[in-house]
Amino acid sequence: MNPLLDFSGLPRFAEIRTEHITPAVSQLLGDNRALIGRIRQDTDLPTWDNFVQPMADANERLSRAWGQVSHLNAVVNTPELREAYNANLPLVTQYYAELAQDQALFEKFKELRGSREFEGLSTARKKVIENELRDFRLGGAELSAEKKARFLQIQEELSALGSRFNDNLLDATNAFVLHVEDAGELSGIPDDVLQAAREVAERDNATGWKFTLRAPSYLPLMQYADNRELREKMYRAYSTRASELGTAALPLEDTGNLDNTPLINTPLIARILELRKEESQLLGFECYAEVSLATKMASTPAQVLDFLGELADKAKPYAERDLKELRQFAADKLQLDTLEAWDLAYVSEKLRLERYAFSEQEVKQYFPETSVLPGMFGLVGNLYGINITPVEATTIQLWHPDAKLFNIADSEGKLIGRFYLDLYARPGKRGGGWMDDAISRRRYVGSADNREYAIQAPVAYLNCNFSGPVSHGEKVRPALFTHDEVITLFHEFGHGLHHLLTRVDDLGVSGIHGVEWDAVELPSQFMENFCWEWEVISRMARHVDTGASMPRELFDKMLAGKNFQSGLQMLRQLEFALFDMHLHFDFDPYGQKTAQQLLDEVREQVAVIIPPGFNRFPNSFSHIFGGGYAAGYYSYKWAEVLSADAYSMFEENPAGTVVNSETGLRFWKEILAVGGSRPALESFIAFRGREPEINALLRHNGMAPAPA
Ligand SMILES: [Zn+2]
Repeated sequence: MNPLLDFSGLPRFAEIRTEHITPAVSQLLGDNRALIGRIRQDTDLPTWDNFVQPMADANERLSRAWGQVSHLNAVVNTPELREAYNANLPLVTQYYAELAQDQALFEKFKELRGSREFEGLSTARKKVIENELRDFRLGGAELSAEKKARFLQIQEELSALGSRFNDNLLDATNAFVLHVEDAGELSGIPDDVLQAAREVAERDNATGWKFTLRAPSYLPLMQYADNRELREKMYRAYSTRASELGTAALPLEDTGNLDNTPLINTPLIARILELRKEESQLLGFECYAEVSLATKMASTPAQVLDFLGELADKAKPYAERDLKELRQFAADKLQLDTLEAWDLAYVSEKLRLERYAFSEQEVKQYFPETSVLPGMFGLVGNLYGINITPVEATTIQLWHPDAKLFNIADSEGKLIGRFYLDLYARPGKRGGGWMDDAISRRRYVGSADNREYAIQAPVAYLNCNFSGPVSHGEKVRPALFTHDEVITLFHEFGHGLHHLLTRVDDLGVSGIHGVEWDAVELPSQFMENFCWEWEVISRMARHVDTGASMPRELFDKMLAGKNFQSGLQMLRQLEFALFDMHLHFDFDPYGQKTAQQLLDEVREQVAVIIPPGFNRFPNSFSHIFGGGYAAGYYSYKWAEVLSADAYSMFEENPAGTVVNSETGLRFWKEILAVGGSRPALESFIAFRGREPEINALLRHNGMAPAPA
């Protein structure tokens, strides 16, 4: 029995083998195509029950099975798994592309939309059908046969290129190791980072320390290493990953890569952009940005560019002030007459230390995993009246010993949903933090006689790349998180709750499904705000060794430092967002300038810090080349406006506490519960009582006067 074909419960991760993948995919694709064949032949009037539901059921099986494969590929990547994933990805992509272009299905949706049944359907079901019609049009359903064939080719090539882009980046990240044997070169680097670097060396049977480009090694080294040369080496390696200047541009010997193609993403970038443009024009749009915005809250590229431009105008004076302070400090206190790219994090940390007199290392001692998780679970327990409990690992199957599973239950103990948590960085795991859905909430058809069992509880994957527990002799210390990592955890958990606390009964718009891209970060960024509240932190933060709560004084210093360099940070995000939007709006991939040159231009216009000429940021911009954020990177800031404004409702609570269950339940009801069943703008207005405003975001970033 192929575990990928068992849909009776949680995924059977321990049993899944690489050789299960191809048979499962082929069986599911065969079954689904047979079903679709029958539906196409059906001459009855299409209804929800004879048409939409059976298709949704079939596609759910495929997405659950393929979701497990994608998840494993992302968290426990091996050459064999990657090969099986890449071999099946085009088949899955092709299936969805065919579905999206199936004229007969399109006609059936149109027929259902025009039928009497439609008016009597729930809002959620109407939205599912409207979304289908929109997506059919965007998927090429109205194209001629010849254009459709071309459209399909483009989709397949784009999918393969995106996957290749990410593989290159992961390999390039892993290909570089900085081996240091002289302890004298390591001054300033925190003990836990050194310990981890020593463990990497030991695994290779080497002496000394090995630093990698993965975040828990790279970031603290850049922030703390006194050795400027060391920082420069690391910076050069990091900022040239997957480019013609990178160390990984050398052929790999041991990947089994047949043609030994160098791992350079540059040619992929131009080709990806060219294909996206061609695809857009087939669909009758001018550019890919328009295609992207067709499913988003924002309406036109010009509106987005204006939005970003306005924020850049507001942020630039603050960024200039930030940089001036940094330069001054570097010259006065650190005898650095020039401020190089590899000095920024280091000097910033020193300036922060001087000005706010605390270090992240000090803060970390108060954020052991053993306090942070119960604190976060307690917070959402108070906001929403839910209970979160760990599931005994021996009763379930996991993909790695680091992974855990938790249940969410309501106040009466009834299961609402479950989530996996995989917090630590390791080789073979994709970088960053992310949430993915494993199982989505739905009501089963035909179980009306037994409603209690008619709901399928949703399940989410929450993944981060934090430092894990470090052993001190016999003792293993719990993982310690920086405040930034705590924020990342809250962020991903916010995505998770959006998926898990939905009350929508239909797959297509339950949880995060069907939510506009630029609104999808609302629930996640919303959660981040609580990491800046004393009433939350005072309950949560406990010293790892003494159990003492965090001193108020330390928190006040953190808060004072909250908007440290907020101008520089906001400009950096805006720079990436503008680069992305221009790439997909008014840029010619094989024209006079390269993507790198376009980025240089954007930087000239909005940035106050210009990175060195060898910096190849586009080659690692996987959000837009290897992920789903093309012409959508602006959505982080867009959603930040929404989340800051939504959170300000908690701040306005007359009782003076932000942990307010009345507002919490309203947030659940109007934002989290409804998922994609209605437009995000409507949900926002239903919660906030008005349209979103930009002021709360600026105030939270220290860029506007406090409210009267
Ligand atoms: Zn997010």
